[in-house]
Amino acid sequence: MEITDIKVDGYERVARCIDKASGLHAIIAVHDTTLGPALGGLRMLPYASEDEALYDVLRLSKGMTYKSAVADTGLGGGKSVIIGDPKTKSPAMFHAMGSFVDAFGGRYITAEDMNIGIADLEEVRKTTKRVTGLSRESGSSGNPSPYTAIGCLHGMRAILEQLEGKVDFHGKHVVIQGVGAVGGRLAELLKAEGAKITICDINEERVAQLAKQHGYATVADKDHLDVACDIYAPCARGAGLNDQTIPRLKCRAIGGVANNQLHETRHARDLMARGILYAPDYVINAGGIINVSIEMLPGGYNEPAALKKVATIYDNLKKVFEIAKSDKITTHDAATRLGDQRIAAAKQAHAAKGTTVKV
Ligand code: NAD
Repeated sequence: MEITDIKVDGYERVARCIDKASGLHAIIAVHDTTLGPALGGLRMLPYASEDEALYDVLRLSKGMTYKSAVADTGLGGGKSVIIGDPKTKSPAMFHAMGSFVDAFGGRYITAEDMNIGIADLEEVRKTTKRVTGLSRESGSSGNPSPYTAIGCLHGMRAILEQLEGKVDFHGKHVVIQGVGAVGGRLAELLKAEGAKITICDINEERVAQLAKQHGYATVADKDHLDVACDIYAPCARGAGLNDQTIPRLKCRAIGGVANNQLHETRHARDLMARGILYAPDYVINAGGIINVSIEMLPGGYNEPAALKKVATIYDNLKKVFEIAKSDKITTHDAATRLGDQRIAAAKQAHAAKGTTVKV
């Protein structure tokens, strides 16, 4: 196995691993560990080149730094990628990946991401302890989706408070795009709070089944942006907020769990100009990472602690809205500012105590 460091400005450590025996070609990027060890998932994709993989892992690991900083998980940001067709996966490849993770001495902790399942992580776990998000039976935090949905509901509370000065879902209309693992659960939670729900999904069978079971209103996916509502919750895919869609929106606020909802960051300004309150995706969808972070507590994972911490998404989002208002900036920029503030405060505290991150 050959591990080579790649110097990248602004990143603590980036390294490539080539293991001829197992066919592993991977990169781990640790962006920042000021707040704690860098946690971020492992994905496997048939990248066209190592440069393309490097671009992806750098972008994602920096994103994890901000997500964890704003969620206040006590974690830093990192990510890893395996370059290759997921069809070529093997236990030997994941054992080599575990050794690669271990070579970071605890500064990087891995988890699931695209094309990597729990069974793959169980193999990684054979050569490193630095793995999270395994099954509940194995003492780990398990499936993050229910916690992501609960976190989104807490975020919507902050949205309602910002819009109306009080939190009351009765009669509020929420349109949810994508009723999969998170969106489906979110709809149930909102219904229990008294909200009126309209759902859409490219999976029309699932829409019909959920509408029948729970009494939700439905709309064809292509028409959902035209439905007037209080909150629009994108829970399907990224880049949905763009030049074509923003002028069509008839919502007062956006709060959903899909990653990278803004096609470009300038679209946050377009939403602001239209008077639509945008809850930055990585702030409102942090329930899953918060749930995983509870595994790091001295006693290990426990659900009550996870639920308590997931509820702080409400406070984090309120802070983001306050910064946006006082500094007259977009909520997207306000979230970045909050993350920067938390990292700067931790750097100062480390400097005062002469410490660095504990791994
Ligand atoms: P999922 O695959 O279970 O559900 C996604 C749903 O969206 C499916 O029902 C799918 O049919 C539908 N969909 C896909 N493309 C669509 C389109 N173009 N138009 C309408 N519907 C479409 O995924 P999930 O776990 O519920 O996650 C949803 C989103 O939230 C993803 O973007 C994911 O990256 C993000 N996210 C999930 C978690 C988590 O804990 N699962 C955490 C953070 C972010």
